Amino acid sequence: MNRLHVDWTACDGRGLCAELLPELLVEDDWGYPAPRGDMSVPPALEPAARQAVDRCPALALRLTAPASS
Ligand code: SF4
Repeated sequence: MNRLHVDWTACDGRGLCAELLPELLVEDDWGYPAPRGDMSVPPALEPAARQAVDRCPALALRLTAPASS
């Protein structure tokens, strides 16, 4: 299962990703996304996660594949 990764050095905290992915992210009091869990992306949320990655204005979001063993 892919995971969503936030580059905190790039994120400008406008919270767009939390709007697009409320199942995985919640906006904190300062507008930054806070993870609801371990950021694993269930298959059903993969399209929304890819959309959030594509629309992040700071290019701070990416999907990472699980490490192969
Ligand atoms: S959309 Fe990108 S810049 Fe905006 S809060 Fe999410 S990670 Fe940060």
